[in-house]
Parts: sequence; structure tokens; C-alpha cells
Amino acid sequence: MDYKDLAELIFPNAKDISYYEEKYPERNLPEGAIVTRFAPSPTGFVHIGGLYQALVAIECAKRTNGVFFLRVEDTDQKREIKNGVTDIVNSLIDFDMAPDEGMISDTEEKGSYGPYKQSLRKEIYQAYAKYLIAQGKAYPCFCTPEEGEEQRKKQEEAKIRPGYYGVWAKCRNLSVEEAIQKIKNGEQYIVRFKSPGREDRKIKHKDIIKGNVDFPENDLDIVIIKADGLPTYHFAHAVDDHLMHTTHVIRSDEWLSSVPLHLQLFQELGFKAPKYAHISPIMKNDNGGKRKLSKRKDPEAAVEYYKKEGIPPLAVKEYLLNIANSTFENWRRANPDKSIDEFDFQLNKMSVSGALFDMVKLLDIGKTVISKMTAEEVYEKTLTWAKEYDSELAEMLKDKEYALKVFGIERGNKKPRKDISKWSDVMYNIEYMYDEKFYSKEQDYPYQPAISEKDEIKEILNSYIEKYYNEEDDKQTWFDKIKQLSVEKGYAGEVKEFKANPGKYKAHVGDVSTVLRVALTSRTNTPDMYEIMKVLGKERIQKRFEKAIENLK
Ligand code: GLU
Repeated sequence: MDYKDLAELIFPNAKDISYYEEKYPERNLPEGAIVTRFAPSPTGFVHIGGLYQALVAIECAKRTNGVFFLRVEDTDQKREIKNGVTDIVNSLIDFDMAPDEGMISDTEEKGSYGPYKQSLRKEIYQAYAKYLIAQGKAYPCFCTPEEGEEQRKKQEEAKIRPGYYGVWAKCRNLSVEEAIQKIKNGEQYIVRFKSPGREDRKIKHKDIIKGNVDFPENDLDIVIIKADGLPTYHFAHAVDDHLMHTTHVIRSDEWLSSVPLHLQLFQELGFKAPKYAHISPIMKNDNGGKRKLSKRKDPEAAVEYYKKEGIPPLAVKEYLLNIANSTFENWRRANPDKSIDEFDFQLNKMSVSGALFDMVKLLDIGKTVISKMTAEEVYEKTLTWAKEYDSELAEMLKDKEYALKVFGIERGNKKPRKDISKWSDVMYNIEYMYDEKFYSKEQDYPYQPAISEKDEIKEILNSYIEKYYNEEDDKQTWFDKIKQLSVEKGYAGEVKEFKANPGKYKAHVGDVSTVLRVALTSRTNTPDMYEIMKVLGKERIQKRFEKAIENLK
């Protein structure tokens, strides 16, 4: 009896690994092409940190004409959630980050290196486990979970490093005959890797992001095939990334400490190891300290949050690139109109410690991103968002022609309006342009102290609409007329005249404009008033002034 017999007894139906080695040949890609992946487990909502990793992976693949694929790691079936895979696939699509290969829905995939869902690769893992057992590099372990727990307690009490290794690895030294007998007796077992490592020796690892790191060798006989026949993450990682010809494993730095084990697995399996890049988590300021963005505490940790808020995916991606490479910001400043795909992303320039998440900055990027869109784009995207999250807004936007006029205010020019950072801002930003909405609630009229007297305001509004406003006027004439009105009523026609001689005037042209703006929109701050008036037209302006006068207190 030898290891081969044991392997045969455990996995009688598993194929020889040569079958898979031939089935998944080297990829035919240009020199230097990066093959990388996003490998989430469908165990909860998609985390912004996951999206960040996927984006980094995509940038690397894209820049080198490589491949980015999506592999679903669902070997922990107890933790799986409903729609987990669909959520992942849809999130990537929402962010225009669909993979070149891999899962494209819960059940479909594309590419010739699949299946891309680990639960469908059971026989592949078993073939490789059989291969290891046949060489004496893996073995069946009959220890029960209770025995494992007991052992862990003993180790703890004796203040010894916990784990299944060395003298603690009881089943490692069972003879082939003993193991075969136990299996024949019907004893339950799992399969463990027989680690050739020694804890007192060091290995050096050069991580693309973290740089040089030293670790003790792995000496744990980790589980590779669990009781349900599925592999553990570690084993699946080695088998999959080998067969899928991953060149770069880009993943969260929580896995950095597993590198010694992973390198050892690759070595013992006879595979070439990939390069590793371990990404630091996105952090958040919390009471003066820093902590990881948390699934439980921070709504913005979920990718779904950005969709609900209507933050454009491009803004999120741009922000993530910003934290990924500190050079992005200068590049963006120098190239305001270039696509983010033209940015020369560098994996090795990512920061070793976690970047701080800054919502203010993200929303600011949102403003810039939206300011560059055409009225038509803003309209379409707002409507899509509103249909899902704000039915009142969707209803308001039904008259597309009018909505385009509203969104067209101060857009498409050199300095476009920058007041919308996300689609959920739109209602506030446009509601005063809709009469039904405007008149449906009692408006505040926040006139400013410079001109606050009832009679004075009334006088300004009436004169303006009767004598000065003309729909045909161009912007200069329109503004000149507000100046004329100001002068007529005893205000300075230029702000600087007023500043030079404040005693001489009641206030200045800016204050007169504010009176008009407040009466018109009930706001002190709006985009260009000339354009607003153009969209409203004389009749509606007049009606708003009448209403404003009625409301003077
Ligand atoms: N399924 C693992 C996780 O979600 C993947 C890690 C990796 O990218 O290898 O953390």
C-alpha cells in the first residue's frame, strides 16, 4: 500500500491533473500583459473596498492589454446570501466595470478558463488534492472538530502557538495502512496539506505594494478539502489562479500574512507563483482615530449607497483612483477633459497604509463630473435615478423639452454650473423652476439686510417688470437694465462706486439683483439669473413677483 492507493481510495473518480493542465493552456497575450481578477465571496453586500480592488485590477489589465476576470468564491456555502452573485455582477455593470471573463450573471459566464464559480469546480480541486496525496504532500485527517477545539484550548493554556502543526498534527504521521483502515471503517475525515515548512526559518516576499516583507515559513498543516468536499480559500486560490493563469493577485491586505502559506502551496503543487499586490483598506476618521470603513457602522461602505444617493459611478471611480495613486490629482488638474482610462495608473505607487475616505472630496468630484455632462445626459441620468428612488422627481421630468431647458441653464459653457454633486441633489436644485412645486408650498423670501423694506422691494419689482424686463434682451443689455433700475432708485450701478462712497447710495446693483433673485426663486443663491428668466418667460416672472409682493411682511 502506498500514497497512490490512499489517493485512489479518497478520490476514485478524480481525473489526472494533466487533463486540466491541457484544458487550460497558457494564454496567448502580449508580453507584459497582466491577468488579474476580482474574487469576491457572495456573503454580503458589495463593499466599496471590493469595488476599489476591482477597479485597481481593471486598470492594471487594461493598461497592459491583459485580462480582468470575475471569479465567485462561494466555497463557504453557510455564509452565502441570496442574490449575492447577482449583486456583485450588477455592481460591476453599474460602474462600467464588467469583466472580460468570468461570471456575467448568477448562472452564466464567459471565457474559456471556467467554471468561474468555485462551487462548480469541486472535481478540479479534488484532482489536485489527489495529486498531492499521491505524493505524500497531503493526507486525510480524522480529528473531529471537538478534538480540534480541545487541542486549541490546551495550546492556549500552555501558551503555545495554536494550530495543527508539528507534534500537534496528529494525523500527519498515520501510516497509509492506518489511514486506509480508518476510511474503510467509515470514519469521517478532511484533507490536510502536509507543510514542509519550519517556523524558525524565514521567507522573503516582495509585494508590489507593501514592498519587502519577511515572514516565518508556514508550518501549519492547513485543511485543503473540507468535510463537504469543497476546498478552503487557500487551496482554491492556488489551484484557480494557476489554472486561470493569473499573473497578479491583487487583493486585500488581510491576506498578506497568508503569503508564506500560499507560496508554499504553489511550490508543492509545482506551480509558478503569481505576483502579489496587497491593497490597504479604506479608512475613516473616527473620534480622532482611524479605523476601517465598517460594514456595520458606515452606510457609505456599501456600494449600493452610491446608487441610492445617485452619485455618478464615474465620480466614485475617479475618487477611488485619487486615493489609489496620489499623482492622479495633479494629472486631473493638468488634463481636465481626458478620460480616466488615459491616466497612467501605477500599482506600485499605491500607498502602504490605508487611505482616508473623504466624502466631501468625493462629492466635489461629483460636481465636476456632472458639470461636464450635457443637459441631455443630466436629464437621462437623473430620470433613470428618479424612476427608482424619487417618483415625484420622475413625474416632474416628464416634460422633457422643458427639463432640458432647466438643465441647460449655465451648462455647456466655459464655466458650467457646479451645484449638482449627485442625482439626489437635483430636486433641490431645480424645484423652483417648476411652478406647481414652487407654489405648492409657502416660500420663504430671504431678502438681505441691504434692502429689506417692504415698499422698497415692491417698488423695485414693479419697476423692473413694467419698465425694464424685455425677453428679447441679450445678457449685456439685460444687465445694463438692472443697473439703470438701480441708479433710478438711488443705488450704485457699480459695486466699486458704492464701496468708494457708501454714504452716497442706499445700496448697490448687487443688492438690487438679490431682491429680484429672491422674489423669483426664493433663494439667494442660484445659477445665472439671466438664463433662469429666459426659461421662465415674462408672464411667469410677473406672476412670481406678484406672489412675492403678496408675501411681503
Ligand atoms: N474571496 C476572497 C475574499 O473575498 C478573495 C481574496 C482574493 O482576491 O484572493 O476576500
